[in-house]
Parts: sequence; structure tokens; C-alpha cells
Amino acid sequence: MPDEPAADDARATGQAILRVDLDALAENWRRLADRAEGAECAAVVKADAYGLGIAPVARALLEEGCETFFVAHLSEGEILRQIAPEARIFVLNGLAPEACPLFVASRLIPVLGSLPEISEWADFCREEGALHPAAIHIDTGMNRLGLGMSDLRRASDLMTAFSPVLAMSHFISAEDMSAPRNRLQIERFEQACAELPPMPASLCNSSGMFLEEAPFLDLCRPGYALYGGNPTPGNDNPMRRVIDLSTNVLQVRDVAAGETAGYNARWTAPSRRRLATINLGYADGFLRSGAEGPLGVDVFAAGHYCPVVGRISMDLAIVDISETAPLKRGDRVEVLGPQISIDELAAQSGTIGYEILTRLGPRFRREYVRSAENIARQDDIEASSSSE
Ligand SMILES: *Cc1c(COP(=O)(O)O)cnc(C)c1O
Repeated sequence: MPDEPAADDARATGQAILRVDLDALAENWRRLADRAEGAECAAVVKADAYGLGIAPVARALLEEGCETFFVAHLSEGEILRQIAPEARIFVLNGLAPEACPLFVASRLIPVLGSLPEISEWADFCREEGALHPAAIHIDTGMNRLGLGMSDLRRASDLMTAFSPVLAMSHFISAEDMSAPRNRLQIERFEQACAELPPMPASLCNSSGMFLEEAPFLDLCRPGYALYGGNPTPGNDNPMRRVIDLSTNVLQVRDVAAGETAGYNARWTAPSRRRLATINLGYADGFLRSGAEGPLGVDVFAAGHYCPVVGRISMDLAIVDISETAPLKRGDRVEVLGPQISIDELAAQSGTIGYEILTRLGPRFRREYVRSAENIARQDDIEASSSSE
């Protein structure tokens, strides 16, 4: 038994660590819920809660008071149902042919986005003699999912066979506050809702909630901002940081001017340089395209930004540590954290923070951090629910 922590420490120092601050996550949800001016604040937890892990994320959000969740796939909804027996769960990608019984079995609410989906749900509900709930997705410009304006009349007729509980649409570019499309989409959505039976409405994703005169309506659907991504690009991030990703140095070496590093010799040492090989590669979501981009990716170690040099390989990357204090085997470097935000790494990698999050790899040691106060609260909740 006394050996165990030591063995565990050894494993931890030799591994990339993803630390998820569940208090910060819960506080981000609370901030967004407060911002929503009385509208309900749901949580979007698709793609394994944007890569952070759906079970711990959903539990922390439930404890904070979140009652409504959105996933993309039926299978994600089935997993979430095990974690959140009472929650309202919407499935954004809608209804696959013949999937109706599966939705009902797990009490999942499909977001119906086309006439065929709506009529299949209506037929099923008629056969069952039950007004099962569904949401209606209206297309206001994305041309991806959702009913067009010309479908609304026919859809309304079918809606008498089930219980339409939410009308929703999705912004194309809410992160660009000056985009005239935002207003256009709001107007189209209002017009569409006027043609449907009365029901609660939802339009805002994270960035939508930060638009001037944000259309909170009845329900908001933030995802990215919950996880600490900046919903207001170009401005200070109003959210708390939720994740830290660090990894360890495997080796340090000095190379002479003219030596190259990594596959295909894509980098040549301009002078004598000191390089560290770090325990992270593209299989961990450290995107290979990053080191190829115009900016180049940095990690942060011992007070300095250290550029990645050469190609990122599957399990490894090489960083130039010539400018930093001596680093040695086993030392840790920051990949995401106080010095490097999700949005910064994304910009350096030529992508968006959403992709950085959802590519977070399966090989990290994951540490979920919850303060004693919140753990105590969780115990209270469990005690009171088991005494009921
Ligand atoms: C993913 C998604 C969201 C959440 O968007 P964020 O920008 O992550 O807040 C909301 N609504 C729909 C339809 C989505 O697909």
C-alpha cells in the first residue's frame, strides 16, 4: 500500500497530464446562466463534452443546477442518460430512419430538422398513441440542418401528433459581432417561429450570448465557453480557464549549426541549439499541421516560450529550449494553461479552439479537480437524494 502513491507519481511524471478544473467549469456555467437574463441555460456536451469527458463534466453541471443538455448523437444521449437520469437531453443531429423507439427508450428528445424526420416522429407517436416531445430545427442560413421557410406550414400540420417543446436555429458566425448575418438570422428565426405553433425558442450558442442585444429567448445553448474557450474572439476572455495540459521532457540534446531535427529535415539549426524532445504528438491532439503553419507552435517552460521545431510526430515533438533556463529529463512543459490559451494554440495551429479541444487525446492522465467545498455539496446532494 505505501508503494502505491510512489508508483503512481512515477507514472504521472512520465506522462502528459490533462487537468480539468470542474469548479471553473461550474462557475462558467453559472456566469452564462446569470447572463441569460432569465432564459434557461442548457449545456452542450456533444463529442464527449468537447473532449473533456462527459461523465465528470455532466456531473459538475448537474450539481450547479443545469437541467438541460444537448448532444449530437443518439449514442451520446444514451451515455448521458446513465449519468443524468432526470435531465432533459436533446439530440442535435436529429432522427435517423427507424430510430424512434431508441429515443423513447432512453427518453431522448430528437431535434427534428427535416420534413421526413418530422413525419416519421409524427407517425411513430400516432402509432404509440403518445405525444412524445421533439424539438424543431429551423434553418436560417447555415444550409446544414433544419427546415426551410417553405416547409413550415406542412411541418406545423404534422406537429399535432407529438409534443413540440423547442424551436431552435443556429448562428453561422456569432463570434463575429459585426456580421450583418446575425441580425438577418434573428429576423428569419422570428418569422419562422410566428408560423409554427407557440413553443419555447432557442438561438444562442456561446458567442451568440455575447452579441449586442443577444436573443436569449427561452433557452441558451453554450458549449465552447463552458470549457474556457473565448466566446468573444479579439476581446478579453470572459470565461475562466478550465483545462491545463502539460507534458514531460524525455531527452535534452545540443545540436550544431546545420543539423536538422525531425522527419524530413524540415528544420535546420541556424546556430548551436539546445533541443528537448517532449512526450506529446499528433496522436495526442498536438496537431501536425500546427508546426507547419505560418506561426509555429510554442510550449512554455521555465518562464519562456519554446518553439516547436521540425515536424510533430505521432508520439513526440521537439522544442528549442536554447533561450530558457536549463531543462532536464522529467521536467514539465506547459502546452495549454496560464501562458498558452486554447485560442492561442488554435491560432498557432491554423485551426479553432473547438478542434483543439475535441482532438484532446486518449492517452493523457486525466485529473478532475473539484474543491472540498463542492465535494461536500455533492455529498449533501447524494445524502438527500438517497434519503428521499
Ligand atoms: C455545438 C452547438 C452549440 C454550441 O455551440 P458553442 O459555439 O460551442 O457554444 C449550440 N447549438 C448547436 C446547434 C450546436 O451544434
